Amino acid sequence: MLPPITDPAVIEGYLGDASNTRGHAEALYRPRTAEEVAEVLAAAQARAVPVTVTARRTSTTGASVPDGGWLLSMERLDAVLDLEHAQGGVLLGEYQAQVERQGRLFPPDPTSRQECSLGAAIACNASGARSFKYGPTRPWVQAVQVVLPTGELLHADRASPVPAAWPVPRWAEPGVKTAAGYYPADNLLDLMIGQEGTLGVLTAAHLRLAPLPAGVLSLIAFFPDLERTLSFVDRARDGAGRRGRPGRPGALSPCAIEYYDHHALDLVRARVPDVPPQAHAALFIEVEHEGEAPLEPWWEALVEGQALVDATIVAEDEAGRARLHAVRHAVPAGVNEQVVRNGMPKVGTDFAVPDAALAEIMAAYDAVDMDKVCFGHIGDNHLHLNLLPTTAAELARAREIYRELALHAVALGGTVSAEHGIGKLKRGLLAEMVGPQVLSGFRALKQAVDPAWILGRGNVVAGP
Ligand SMILES: Cc1cc2nc3c(=O)[nH]c(=O)nc-3n(C[C@H](O)[C@H](O)[C@H](O)COP(=O)(O)OP(=O)(O)OC[C@H]3O[C@@H](n4cnc5c(N)ncnc54)[C@H](O)[C@@H]3O)c2cc1C
Repeated sequence: MLPPITDPAVIEGYLGDASNTRGHAEALYRPRTAEEVAEVLAAAQARAVPVTVTARRTSTTGASVPDGGWLLSMERLDAVLDLEHAQGGVLLGEYQAQVERQGRLFPPDPTSRQECSLGAAIACNASGARSFKYGPTRPWVQAVQVVLPTGELLHADRASPVPAAWPVPRWAEPGVKTAAGYYPADNLLDLMIGQEGTLGVLTAAHLRLAPLPAGVLSLIAFFPDLERTLSFVDRARDGAGRRGRPGRPGALSPCAIEYYDHHALDLVRARVPDVPPQAHAALFIEVEHEGEAPLEPWWEALVEGQALVDATIVAEDEAGRARLHAVRHAVPAGVNEQVVRNGMPKVGTDFAVPDAALAEIMAAYDAVDMDKVCFGHIGDNHLHLNLLPTTAAELARAREIYRELALHAVALGGTVSAEHGIGKLKRGLLAEMVGPQVLSGFRALKQAVDPAWILGRGNVVAGP
């Protein structure tokens, strides 16, 4: 079998993720083939040793943080095999760039796509701004090669049945963008998407591609108040193609609608001069097009919606794109600087709610009495409220507020995680979201797939 790496100095680099939590592990394996992955898992199974799959460690939920046992790194399974096939460890952005050079598009676009792996994007059903139009990663996967926790190497597509002994819970996922809990799948592929490295290791994937649009119109529109911002979101969504469903001909049909609140705009003002003083909120919008950029209908809608039209930044050329990039980049950069100044971690939400509940959850976010910045995927009613505590007491309060807001989102028909997944840090919230019956269904499924609970122990559901 592949020799383990046991040098603590090497293992050290694999023990944390973007959640700032750290774990421990006794050995690290860096397989080059699916067969080597299978051997490692079979050996771990025989010894009942926990195995944590680790890819690029951008998880924000502790999902790739090991709690003892072995680490299985995907870094050497990083080949793009052909246009529609790639290994699990390939960098998502690298695969997308190769596909785009050949005039095709692999739509899932997590913000971390230049830092995260394709296999983890599938394992976590990642999504991004474009998921408004294209949905999350799930519909863009046609098949995977997967190694089960027992070491069995399988092909899974939508015609592959779930083994009869696996009790997949039939539960009603919230009807919003969600990455929380096992998918109520009727086939092996869908079960393997979004399982956060607990039911199988995805060594390769067969992907579905879209045509690369001829052009993308990008703009940032500023609004004097929240009411007009939300009305414009409704206008932009009216008749639009959403999550893979076609839209109404003639509708505005953006592919992404992103929101920035006035705290976010204050961060931008400190860095770039483009934000008008009377702006209370902004929307960043992207529209794919074939012929001419559809500037006119958007302009008319912005005038009608009483946006601060003269301040609108439109990107049709390199200079415009650079200005847009500077504005957008200023927000996370400003948040990170504030976190460093505060010496306290931020507490960030990842909840989504149905369209009808957007105004209510935003009012709840607005009512939070703490330094905060809110931005994100408003098209999917999925905003990241970043609470910025300045003391240990405020941090404790931020975590309490976070929990209350999560339950509020659930009560509105939403989810505790729209895209970042459950990992180890949100297990309690998932339990509250789905209730004891579904949770015990998740546990029964895990037990059937992985009787010794070796794989991704502690993710999604607590260990045995
Ligand atoms: C700045 C930043 C921005 C982000 N933006 C987004 C965003 O817009 N949208 C979004 O969805 N997420 C986002 N994320 C979260 C994260 O990038 C994604 O969840 C991503 O898919 C993780 O990829 P990774 O390669 O870093 O995986 P890791 O962190 O190494 O692993 C994540 C999980 O996947 C499992 N795993 C990894 N590879 C495999 C495999 N081949 N087979 C089975 N299981 C596997 C691991 O065991 C772990 O449970 C962001 C994170 C950061 C830090």
